[in-house]
Amino acid sequence: MTVSFPASRRRVVLGKLATLYADMDAAYAAAAATAGLSCAGCAENCCTSFFQHHTHVEWLYLQAGLDALPAERREAFLDRAKAYVAACREALARGETPRVLCPLNDDGLCGLYGHRLMICRLHGVPNVLIGGMGVREFPGCGPCQRLVAGRPGAKFMDRTPLLKRLAALEMELWGSKPGRPPKVDLTLAEMLLAGPPGGEAAKQGK
Ligand code: SF4
Ligand code: SF4
Repeated sequence: MTVSFPASRRRVVLGKLATLYADMDAAYAAAAATAGLSCAGCAENCCTSFFQHHTHVEWLYLQAGLDALPAERREAFLDRAKAYVAACREALARGETPRVLCPLNDDGLCGLYGHRLMICRLHGVPNVLIGGMGVREFPGCGPCQRLVAGRPGAKFMDRTPLLKRLAALEMELWGSKPGRPPKVDLTLAEMLLAGPPGGEAAKQGK
């Protein structure tokens, strides 16, 4: 399905997403401080985790970061994204969950740190999500689980209000179009290769 969004609406919604991301970062920093978690020197690089992403608003924000890069760097990331997609396909064809390093990972550092997705911002600390499926608890990454083991009272970050705000921004971006926005269901690499949502390059990485 091809979708497009007016430039004026994109600007407003992406501005609000920047504010939401800042709030996510603050919530994460507080939870990580409580847990005593730091990613510095971590040997378990979580940038090999296999995720699909679901919102057009985050896709647009990621693309804005990519577009702002010097051409050479952008092309290098896109080359890596193609290799990532191919490697994931091979793993999936073998019936395995892909463990492939994110194409934006530069020697352990995120190449689009300011534009990384919510899942990258909130991964790590124990968190809770309260919704239609009840209260779901996520224990955090391996290093954090080991840190908080034996501390049953360790506070979980509630990511419910943050996700609600993201969902509201997705709806605001969608505007008065009928129905609800379709789920994106692309990996980060596929999003990079696709160009902004609505671009027909969207299928090139597939
Ligand atoms: S979130 Fe956890 S697994 Fe990922 S780099 Fe940080 S400490 Fe390591
Ligand atoms: S976008 Fe950045 S933080 Fe997220 S997986 Fe890729 S390199 Fe890691």
